[in-house]
Amino acid sequence: MSRWVIKGLQTGVVTTRYPSGEETTPGISPGLPQAMPSYDGDTRTLIARCPTGALHRADGRVVVESRRCLHCYRCSRGIAKPISWDSGFEWASIREGSAALPATFRRSIYIRVVDAGDCGACLNETRLLNNPFYNMHRLGFFITPTPRKADILLVVGPVTDHMKTALSKAYDAMPTPKRVMAVGTCALSGGIFGPGFVTGAGVSDLLPVDVEIPGCPPPPLTILHGLLVLAGRKSASQSTKPVSAHVNEEGGIR
Ligand code: SF4
Repeated sequence: MSRWVIKGLQTGVVTTRYPSGEETTPGISPGLPQAMPSYDGDTRTLIARCPTGALHRADGRVVVESRRCLHCYRCSRGIAKPISWDSGFEWASIREGSAALPATFRRSIYIRVVDAGDCGACLNETRLLNNPFYNMHRLGFFITPTPRKADILLVVGPVTDHMKTALSKAYDAMPTPKRVMAVGTCALSGGIFGPGFVTGAGVSDLLPVDVEIPGCPPPPLTILHGLLVLAGRKSASQSTKPVSAHVNEEGGIR
């Protein structure tokens, strides 16, 4: 502890400059696989390497359903023609028909975090937003233990059957306007857990999701990007439609 304090005094402010400046510290993000615009190799081999069916072929391209990506790197490493890889972190997308909170909320937003059966990874990345490097308080984001004070419901995990009632009650107890943020692959699609005999296919099975945060787990800056999108202070990476899982031409789910 004392060494940490001394280092802080010696190096000065260590908080990230994001969002007012660029954040390029090595290792800040694991990246995400990107669609290949003109893949001319053996697409079936590449697609077959994905253990979750996140890759599929459409209009002569290999596209990525990032809601299902586990960051296993099988499409990037140990293959002759790897898929391209985005090394950034601004991946938060907003659902069609959803919008940021009203402007009066921009400088003070309270977040109720619900662990709906996650493995601990997404919850841990969310927890890091409170440390000195990310320091989300400087941007007006605060965690609250009660849904009655919350503006945003941040959900991690695939929503196990035992968490459905608790999650619904938390959502119902929140005042309006309110927004729901689904964080991580499990919250977006069920991930490696669902759909299964104890869990569904993510938060949107139960609640109207406004912002989606892909990643397994997403890095803290991606979660922060999602919060800034809901605060109306950053643009979303894209607008997404509700999940419609079906089997694609390669046999994967998309
Ligand atoms: S990194 Fe994602 S898209 Fe690539 S093979 Fe693994 S799960 Fe599939």
